[in-house]
Amino acid sequence: MKYKSTRGGVSGLSFQDALYTGYAADGGILVPESIPVLNMETLKSWASLSYIDLAKKIVPLFVDEVEIPASDLNGLLDKAFAKFTHQEIAPIQRLKNGLNIMELFHGTTWAFKDLALSCVGQFLEYFLSKQKKHLTIVVGTSGDTGSAAIEAVKGFEYVDIIVLLPKGRCSKVQEQQMITAVEKNVHVYRVEGTSDDLDIPIKEVFKDVTFTKKHNLSSINSINWSRIMVQIVHYIYAYLQICPRCDGEVEIIIPTGACGNVTSGFIAKLMGVPIKFVCAVTQNDIVARAITKGDYSMSDSVIRTLAPAMDIQIPYNMERLWYLITQDSKLICKLMTEFESNGKVDIPTFLKNQIEEIIVATYVADNEDIKTTMRRTWEENHYQICPHTAIGVAYYYSTLKPDHKRTTVVIATASVKKFEEAVVAAGLTPQKYEEVEVLFSKPVKYTDMNKGENWELILRDKIEDIDK
Ligand SMILES: *Cc1c(COP(=O)(O)O)cnc(C)c1O
Repeated sequence: MKYKSTRGGVSGLSFQDALYTGYAADGGILVPESIPVLNMETLKSWASLSYIDLAKKIVPLFVDEVEIPASDLNGLLDKAFAKFTHQEIAPIQRLKNGLNIMELFHGTTWAFKDLALSCVGQFLEYFLSKQKKHLTIVVGTSGDTGSAAIEAVKGFEYVDIIVLLPKGRCSKVQEQQMITAVEKNVHVYRVEGTSDDLDIPIKEVFKDVTFTKKHNLSSINSINWSRIMVQIVHYIYAYLQICPRCDGEVEIIIPTGACGNVTSGFIAKLMGVPIKFVCAVTQNDIVARAITKGDYSMSDSVIRTLAPAMDIQIPYNMERLWYLITQDSKLICKLMTEFESNGKVDIPTFLKNQIEEIIVATYVADNEDIKTTMRRTWEENHYQICPHTAIGVAYYYSTLKPDHKRTTVVIATASVKKFEEAVVAAGLTPQKYEEVEVLFSKPVKYTDMNKGENWELILRDKIEDIDK
């Protein structure tokens, strides 16, 4: 499999190239040159596979054997999932009222980002150690990405990671997960500002292409193809768990932010898996407006909600969806150029209609809706959900019909353990988790970046220092 840019200026990249690439040189993002299609017989024959065994079937469709031979790849995938605490990796809870919840939070940092980043970490160390090359990852995070990325690479020989987090604005557990990484290749900064503020020095550093190349910098956000690729697995797994005979369609409700997760599902659909999607979002509703009205326009500011991982202004992966549907890089260039200069663009009706055939509904929840749903799931099942998951479940409840049997699954993107603040806000009693207590007894290591300091300079100095 080779990779190309959505904007037509780059093609023929290997998986390894794609792994190191954020934005392509032409400003676009990478997609596979073709989408492998699975026939029903193949799909059926996978129905009894474990999650990891399924990953071992799907990842090779996108990574050539000459790049990573099967035996190596299988070893990397085993290692990536070794620290997951549930043997099924992504178990489905079957609750009252036909509510199925797929728990994607059994990785080390208790959010779905562990699924992909644990693999990405293994891929990086694999290629880098062969080439004896060093890479520095720079991540700005509002919570889950930073901790999952740290976990994925801590202790590695050929990778250092620098994380900037907005001090006091993540949940307590999220911040604690990041500042308790004491390994010498992990460098965490608590920035006195919002996640938008901390993006500024990072952007400035990445704009300096000479510097970026010289120090081999990378950012592993969901622009990165390898993350999207690994996430395809959990959609196919979800389908096979809910519909093992492969004789029907499954509706998957996805709490959505930057659309990385839904893009993976979208690709599973294009591969021939009979699934359709609902995107559930916070009041930062650009995704919902784009899908249902063709109105892709940035709002003036980000509203802070109880589901911070979904509070985004630009869902970067939309560009991938448009390209995957149209395969028309001229159109993508035109749309994105307009969006980049005006902060808004109208999506052509034919494109909007085709997306709506796959993403069949959207749902926008406010904080009241989140809290009510967290309470209802608890009252009906004695099962607590995180505020992000609650937005998906809120859609499910809002469309519940008493006798109507649906084959639906809601993606649980994070564990409630990470969001005690939201549990309290919902009027519920937080449960005690031993692993959370352990986390708060660990030693910490971090540096503060305070207002008035030159953050860009601090970041550059650190990067140079690592490379010495
Ligand atoms: C990152 C994240 C999301 C949003 O996922 P996208 O792929 O950006 O759409 C939703 N919920 C949680 C808990 C997350 O960490």
